[in-house]
Amino acid sequence: MDFNYSPEQEAYRQQVRAWLEANQPPPLTAEERERISEDLLWERNKRWHRKLYEGGWVGLSWPKEYGGRGATFVEQLIFQQELARLNLPIGINVLGIIMNGPAIMQWGTEEQKQRYLQPILRADEIWCEGMSEPGAGSDLAAIQTRAELHGDEFIVNGQKVWTTVAHRADFCQLFVRTDTEAPKHKGLSALIVDMHSPGVTVKPLRQITGDAEFNEIYFDDVRVPKKNLLGPLNGGWQVLVATLMHERFGISETVAGSDVILTQLVELAKSTVIDHASAAQDPAVRQQIAQFAIEATAKKYNGLRSLTRRLKGLPPGAESSIGKLVSTELSQKMTRFAARLLGPFATLERHSHFAPEGDWMRRMLWAEALTIAGGTSAVQKNMIGERILQLPKG
Ligand SMILES: Cc1cc2nc3c(=O)[nH]c(=O)nc-3n(C[C@H](O)[C@H](O)[C@H](O)COP(=O)(O)OP(=O)(O)OC[C@H]3O[C@@H](n4cnc5c(N)ncnc54)[C@H](O)[C@@H]3O)c2cc1C
Repeated sequence: MDFNYSPEQEAYRQQVRAWLEANQPPPLTAEERERISEDLLWERNKRWHRKLYEGGWVGLSWPKEYGGRGATFVEQLIFQQELARLNLPIGINVLGIIMNGPAIMQWGTEEQKQRYLQPILRADEIWCEGMSEPGAGSDLAAIQTRAELHGDEFIVNGQKVWTTVAHRADFCQLFVRTDTEAPKHKGLSALIVDMHSPGVTVKPLRQITGDAEFNEIYFDDVRVPKKNLLGPLNGGWQVLVATLMHERFGISETVAGSDVILTQLVELAKSTVIDHASAAQDPAVRQQIAQFAIEATAKKYNGLRSLTRRLKGLPPGAESSIGKLVSTELSQKMTRFAARLLGPFATLERHSHFAPEGDWMRRMLWAEALTIAGGTSAVQKNMIGERILQLPKG
């Protein structure tokens, strides 16, 4: 097998690199750093998203008929590698692009595809993902939010939790119970819910990072047109599994974090002094960083399994759990190691005068969260055991 990129792909990389270098957003000004907030970063990322969209770089691998560029997944990967090289954000509406849009392409009616896909790419309409509930996280078959069909409308009642960007969202891909008598996997459906509908209440949850990026959502007699059913009635479990696979594939591809963190870790080791010498000279530090580099490389080559499947035109499968598990666990190990190098400085928030460059504390906390979001590491291990290694169910 030849792991090298073809001359055309290398030429494409140069094209991407030149565009990103010429168009990348300017660094935060001193004044912006002073008043940095989630709102400020959202507005910056929104402007960046618009620029990426106009440059034709959003939804690269989406089919042209839905506003994408019809690029191959290898080209998509090259683009993400180049974004990571410059440590640039991927824009906004990430969930819409990596999971809701692909789910609509896979399960939506032609009318739904025409109506929703283009605004997702442009980020004119922001999407969120309503799966988890207080009593249903890893076990999503336990979803209790109800939707009853009355004529041409579903009436939705219930609660979701941990819903990322719900406070900014225009639409939610919502998983609900539509048949209470059927076995629990067989009574679910997916709905497209307008978040501005009467009866929808969003309550932000503040995270340990200090940001409030995810939320609780309450649904009180919310009316959803029947035509907003996504996929078959009571066949929502298949839609849910497919959507999660898209998410895991997306997380492992876009949390390109590991390569970026590795590069920054090397820089950190060079600039940190231990016992009057650079940490980068310490054999134990060097060995640990080399070990991370080995794991990052193994992750990259293993990721080619997912890529091969996508290149064959297949939706992501259980192997996307490997990418999700390994990239998030590796990021977590690397940020923890950075904390050991930084010592007590690791605990300083970015606003603090003495905070080290690199926003390490926030990244450490996020690295923990990413091993939970999209299915915990334990759940990914179950998936790998059962669906890839064909081990008996635990
Ligand atoms: C940053 C972030 C963003 C998120 N965004 C969204 C979102 O946009 N939309 C959404 O719907 N949800 C979202 N979530 C929720 C996330 O999907 C759930 O937190 C996750 O699936 C775990 O569910 P839980 O929190 O209910 O934990 P639980 O399922 O209660 O798990 C508790 C513990 O038990 C373990 N466990 C559970 N079942 C098993 C098992 N069968 N085998 C072994 N161990 C098991 C878990 O690994 C975990 O350690 C987000 C979470 C985070 C952290």
